[in-house]
Amino acid sequence: METFDYICIGGGSGGIASANRAAKHGKKVALIEGADIGGTCVNVGCVPKKAMWFGANVAEAIHKYGPDYGFDVTVNNYSWEVMVANRQAYIERIHASYDRVLGANDITVIKGFARFVDNKTVEVDGKQYTAEHITIAVGGRPRFPDIPGAELGIDSDGFFALQTQPKRAVVVGAGYIGVELAGVLHSLGTKTDLVIRHGQPLRHFDPMIAETLTEIIDSEGPALHKFSEIEKVEKQDDDSLKVTLSTGEVIETDVLIWAIGRVPSSDKLALENTGIDTDEKGFIKVDKFQNTTVDGVYCVGDVTGHAELTPVAIKAGRLLSERLFNGQSDAHLDYNLIPTVVFSHPPIGTVGMTEPEAEEAYGKENLKVYTSSFAAMYTAVTKHRQATKMKLICAGDDERVVGLHGIGMGMDEILQGFAVAMKMGATKADFDSCIAIHPTSAEEFVTM
Ligand code: FAD
Ligand code: NDP
Repeated sequence: METFDYICIGGGSGGIASANRAAKHGKKVALIEGADIGGTCVNVGCVPKKAMWFGANVAEAIHKYGPDYGFDVTVNNYSWEVMVANRQAYIERIHASYDRVLGANDITVIKGFARFVDNKTVEVDGKQYTAEHITIAVGGRPRFPDIPGAELGIDSDGFFALQTQPKRAVVVGAGYIGVELAGVLHSLGTKTDLVIRHGQPLRHFDPMIAETLTEIIDSEGPALHKFSEIEKVEKQDDDSLKVTLSTGEVIETDVLIWAIGRVPSSDKLALENTGIDTDEKGFIKVDKFQNTTVDGVYCVGDVTGHAELTPVAIKAGRLLSERLFNGQSDAHLDYNLIPTVVFSHPPIGTVGMTEPEAEEAYGKENLKVYTSSFAAMYTAVTKHRQATKMKLICAGDDERVVGLHGIGMGMDEILQGFAVAMKMGATKADFDSCIAIHPTSAEEFVTM
């Protein structure tokens, strides 16, 4: 049996970050990865998605806005194949860069899927490894529903594997992935239907965000099917799919994409051989220091079920290694005020509490809410106007900013700096004391 100081199971965002940080502190580290290095984010998540979102923005610039800026452009062809090839080449460069850093840090990369033999030992392809400290960072995978013909659909992994552009697509799901993939497909010219169970996508976001996104989708597409569930999916003679909704509506499509949430990949770890507890959904239980219920075994990232975002997995992994291997005994991730962006069209940025959450926490009478609504200046000279809406939720006599939400062009890049201010405890007066940058959308946050 080979012995290490530290083993990370899962070579995605959290595992790589934690392994590298441990190695920097002189530890002998193994990283076990069963599929492609980089995990979900690099291979079938943030990276390919953002590349395609940029592509979708190019399409919008050409078709929606270009003509009013004076461009008379004839597009002879759109090649999905070229875009996919360039996207994958970029991902290959990221793989190479990971390999370089892991190599420079002397980390042993073990290819294969790990399962626990006992609390201190894992097995990969019949070979056993042990370490005083083991971190689980195995992430999750897309969920499929249990309805007739569900297997005829694909998931987000399948979407990124598409080698040709579907002419028609049905996307099911009202979360981040449903909204993002449907937006990309629609902007790139695929006839897209987005099917959601309730009245709005992203209904857990601040009501202003969910309402505005719904209005924009209702007027610009993709076609939004509200209060609809998929009853069955059938393959037709020409290989197209016939999708029957609970409303009785039938949609014919080339691909059906399930985006109805993700499940943790804890089920393949043979946790029954350990004392590691999961919740009823399979998320591994951790305390604020990422400790599992077994001494010396930790867990970070999506498989914990907390804020399933790449920077969260990375930071939790790094802080864990600082605590274990660099004497920072109190190092742990603060899960408050995590900023997040949905790469919709237009993008959404949000940090802190929604208005209903703030009312619950502080009482409506102790809140002051500021809003701003305008057309993005980029679209001011074009026939197609794009709405922007922003909201600041301030609590208490000093009006501390406890929630900041925006939907509109540029929100994806605007958010980060404001999140820093909120982490520092900024008040409305602090926002107001900052000179605006004109003309931008961001300036609205300091001039409300
Ligand atoms: P992962 O990155 O999933 O890595 C887990 C790794 O463990 C995988 O490589 C897997 O193969 C491996 N593994 C699993 N089981 C085993 C085993 N038994 N043995 C060995 N290896 C194993 N987040 C953002 O912040 N911004 C975004 O824009 C964004 N976009 C996304 C778009 C999509 C379509 C998806 C699906 C996700 C997106 N996310 C985004 C979420 C982000 O990808 C995840 O939060 C992040 O990847 C989680 O990192 P992780 O280390 O927990 O797990
Ligand atoms: P989410 O949990 O965000 O959304 C899935 C949604 O699908 C649910 O909210 C639910 O909405 C709906 N749903 C659930 N079950 C069903 C069903 N049986 N039929 C129809 N609809 C259903 O999951 P995603 O897979 O979209 O994303 C997973 C996570 O990955 C996100 O939460 C996020 O943390 C991360 N991510 C981050 C991104 C970013 O940072 N930009 C991008 C993509 C993912 P409702 O209840 O309203 O029907």
